[in-house]
Amino acid sequence: MRDINFLTETNAKPIWHPMAHPAEMRANPPKIIMKGEGVTVTDIDGNSVLDAVGGLWNVNLGYSCDPIKKAIADQLSALPYYSGFRGTSTGPSIELAYELSEWFEPEGMVRTFFTSGGSDSVETALRLARQYWKIRGQGDRTKFLAVKKGYHGTHFGGASVNGNANFRRNYEPLLPGVFHIPAPWTFRNPFDETDPARLAKLCAKALEDEIAFQGGDTIAAFIMEPVLGAGGVIVPHESFMPLVRDICDRHEILLIADEVVTGFGRSGAWSGSRLSGVKPDFMTIAKAITSGYFPLGATLIGARVADAFEADKTSFGSIGHGYTYSGHPVGCAAGLAALAETKRLRLDENAAARGNELATVLEGLKARHAIVGDVRYKGLMAALELVSDRATKKPADKKTMAVVSEAAYEAGVMLRVSGNNIILSPPLIISAADVAKIGEALDAGLSKV
Ligand code: PMP
Repeated sequence: MRDINFLTETNAKPIWHPMAHPAEMRANPPKIIMKGEGVTVTDIDGNSVLDAVGGLWNVNLGYSCDPIKKAIADQLSALPYYSGFRGTSTGPSIELAYELSEWFEPEGMVRTFFTSGGSDSVETALRLARQYWKIRGQGDRTKFLAVKKGYHGTHFGGASVNGNANFRRNYEPLLPGVFHIPAPWTFRNPFDETDPARLAKLCAKALEDEIAFQGGDTIAAFIMEPVLGAGGVIVPHESFMPLVRDICDRHEILLIADEVVTGFGRSGAWSGSRLSGVKPDFMTIAKAITSGYFPLGATLIGARVADAFEADKTSFGSIGHGYTYSGHPVGCAAGLAALAETKRLRLDENAAARGNELATVLEGLKARHAIVGDVRYKGLMAALELVSDRATKKPADKKTMAVVSEAAYEAGVMLRVSGNNIILSPPLIISAADVAKIGEALDAGLSKV
């Protein structure tokens, strides 16, 4: 391994970083993270900070989960890889799929299709949704409906259902036949509606209206995040997802719940769908399935879709889709260990309890700092939306966001900036003292601007 000077000098030169401008990264190279322990990470200069980002919404168990590390090491020595394509399978993949159908039994999930991450999981759900309708003899059902501000990864299908122009414009033209409804976002919406329940109804009506316009029998599926994450932690009113489920049922449209962030406790429940008692037709999961220790994702499949595929007598039933790493044995071994620890530590309950404390902290910051236009939270996913003027809601500029996050870093807490939002998604194992520390660092950052 080369020395530290080499890393510092070469930082951002041979790499193009995701979600960044290559020239900007060269001018302002990223922090090089060298170590992780508990909920703390340490950079190349020796600064240790509380990771309020949780890696990227994924390191729910923190950085010192020995059972996952051991499971990975053991599986690496037993069998580092074998394919899950037809003809072969592996022990950990069979076991993890079995566990997942138990874990998500309340959501009605009965089958698992393994992937390498969230974008793959979304792509898989979109493709299987179309295939489902071919099996059912309704091949005209090809369109997808989605929510503005939604984030569904970066493959072409996922980018097409994505609801944020930043992830779409440079890659157009995207998939044809994809249409978006307004997000149930009280702070900014086309109806100027600030009441969450009334806004949920208006957005559901917009969905119904779009279905009438397109023709229900042309639509394969509707995709949504139960709590919108990357779009700025937009928390729909609890009535929204049940309203959506009801509309989808009336038009026989499949419902895909993108639970890549909300799966495994982050929202304070084991899934976002469970928060409102909804049973989707597909769930996409990734991230916390291995707590970030190994790249893995899955598309979970409900009974209605599973039955159609498994009883298929047409020429459409064979799944012509899959990844070299579908069911990777090391990933699945990591997943089994991560799920066992997640359950043992009741991380859903800790996310809900620490989330309540975090909510109080964030409301306090909003009361003290005029630059905080809005705070949004559910469990341990939260956002502070910064504005230069509360009356006009003009978003804070890039420089302001950087000043806040750098000051917080100096105060010992890593934050993530996305547009004019500060996003918080700490490990779900954090303590009350950690929540207080996040609050103090945010206060320090916000006091600088
Ligand atoms: N869906 C959602 C809801 C996500 O938040 C993300 C990633 N943040 C993805 C899909 C894509 O996952 P990945 O980055 O693992 O491909």
